[in-house]
Amino acid sequence: MQHVFSALSRKDHLKRMTVEDYDVLVIGGGITGAGIALDAQTRGMKTALIEMQDYAAGTSSRSTKLVHGGLRYLKQFEVRMVAKVGKERAVVYENGPHVTVPEWMLLPLYKDGTFGVATTSLGLRVYDRLAGVKRDERRKMLSLEETLEKEPLLKRHGLKGGGYYVEYRTDDARLTIEVLKKAAETGVNAVNYAKAEKFIYEGGKLVGVKVRDVMDGELYTIKARKIVNATGPWVDNLRKLDQSLQGKKLRLTKGIHLVFDGNRFPLRQSVYFDTPDGRMVFAIPRDGKTYVGTTDTDYTGDIANPRMTIQDEKYLVDVSNYMFPELKLTVSDVESSWAGLRPLIYEENKAPSEVSRKDEIICSASGMITIAGGKLTGYRKMAETVTDLLDRELRSAGHGPFAPCSTLTLPISGGDVGGAAKFPEFVRLMIERGERLGLTRKAAETLTCRYGTNVTSVYDHVIEYIRGGEQYGLPADVYAALIYGIEEEMVVKPIDFFIRRTGAVLFNTNWVEQWKQGVISVMADNLGYSDKQVEEYTRELNVELSGAVEPVGV
Ligand SMILES: Cc1cc2nc3c(=O)[nH]c(=O)nc-3n(C[C@H](O)[C@H](O)[C@H](O)COP(=O)(O)OP(=O)(O)OC[C@H]3O[C@@H](n4cnc5c(N)ncnc54)[C@H](O)[C@@H]3O)c2cc1C
Repeated sequence: MQHVFSALSRKDHLKRMTVEDYDVLVIGGGITGAGIALDAQTRGMKTALIEMQDYAAGTSSRSTKLVHGGLRYLKQFEVRMVAKVGKERAVVYENGPHVTVPEWMLLPLYKDGTFGVATTSLGLRVYDRLAGVKRDERRKMLSLEETLEKEPLLKRHGLKGGGYYVEYRTDDARLTIEVLKKAAETGVNAVNYAKAEKFIYEGGKLVGVKVRDVMDGELYTIKARKIVNATGPWVDNLRKLDQSLQGKKLRLTKGIHLVFDGNRFPLRQSVYFDTPDGRMVFAIPRDGKTYVGTTDTDYTGDIANPRMTIQDEKYLVDVSNYMFPELKLTVSDVESSWAGLRPLIYEENKAPSEVSRKDEIICSASGMITIAGGKLTGYRKMAETVTDLLDRELRSAGHGPFAPCSTLTLPISGGDVGGAAKFPEFVRLMIERGERLGLTRKAAETLTCRYGTNVTSVYDHVIEYIRGGEQYGLPADVYAALIYGIEEEMVVKPIDFFIRRTGAVLFNTNWVEQWKQGVISVMADNLGYSDKQVEEYTRELNVELSGAVEPVGV
């Protein structure tokens, strides 16, 4: 069967894209571009998307991985943004309960801290109200004892109690992939490792893009009535290419996260805490690890490869020791890290943490629509606003009509379980099914929670693999996830699988070390890698692994 989002048909897609007559071409396969492609196509606009790296390889795999309203922005009185984004949390969860889960957050309150008990109680109540939080998920104020019971590792000196409120935890890269898979299922033609290199104009209007297949260097032409620049930290590069880089510009700030093993940093409870320099940092337990972040510093280096510096690492180790003093963490405890760039809109005289996270749409004289800024959490709403604009512009040029936006209640790929409330029962059934196939309970649970309703396709590969005699020395769950990744998630290189489809380079480096050779062999056989490619992709993966623990600079 030919799958619509398969690495095996990448080239066919690209060829087909040169002859199609698109309404919309989206440049950028992060969460912003993914959301727009899905919305546009489901309204009836014929849509294509190109991504120059792997999907989500930009900022959308490098966030704090929270679907959150941005509590701290209330301090900056960004009430409208908090209300808009806050309400989206429940929507993102409802449409994809396999990638987004509710996560209670503890806000410890200290004698001389920035938050008083009364203001926090009020602030969290406002936050809940703005976001329309369900009654049983509204904030609770905790006593000192209750706070320590939730998280015994907290610094005790000056602790008065805590605020306890709900946010959502996600896997940013998988959220992006699931949105894109849904988009492809509804008719979007999407290709990764395809870079927009040059624009094509007719009568001063942008009508197409010269696209380079980064895998083999071939050049293609894709034509579309409207072109959307959703390239996150790169948006100004494309505006420059379009000769329209005037007015508002980007300011990139870098944020890094550190990952510790759960035995060394046994955090029970997600905590959002004040730092001595007046910032706020998250510490979040996840899959037997604890991650801490983020930093916020201006950035002017290579956009595709932001790295953790020695200062970044030291800063987060220091603030972790400040809030959890018993741990006495050192940089040698860091198991992994990642660094991302916030595509913020430049504002005069503001510190990095003070710059607004609002999104911004910029239309150029050539007709290119640029969308920048914003949050992962608000991706669907941002997409709706951009697609409304596309609808107006296409209709005024005599195209359409198009259907209204339907993404509010549209499950993303893997999320179609009949509502988030039914997900736990689905997980239970699928674990049982996985165990019957011979998987361990843990493996079946991991696959179900990662792939949602698509787990049945992954299980089909488990069956094939076991019947075929289990070659390659890989366990059935790893093999099945990989084949599913190649055939239905456009996994082109080993780093796609190990970073963005499984998150293992971030959260399970031992697992990567253990299976990388087998995985690369399977990929070489299925995707026809040359010896040179095997060597290059192995090196690329090793660079990612070492870069995650070795800081740069002084
Ligand atoms: C440290 C950090 C923490 C964050 N934490 C959170 C959080 O917890 N919750 C939240 O809601 N938000 C968070 N955010 C914000 C969120 O991650 C971003 O708003 C979001 O991921 C931006 O997505 P994007 O699609 O606009 O950009 P990107 O994900 O960067 O996607 C743009 C894509 O365009 C591609 N591209 C660029 N040029 C070209 C070209 N010429 N041709 C083809 N493709 C091209 C790039 O390769 C890239 O993949 C955080 C951000 C950072 C940096």
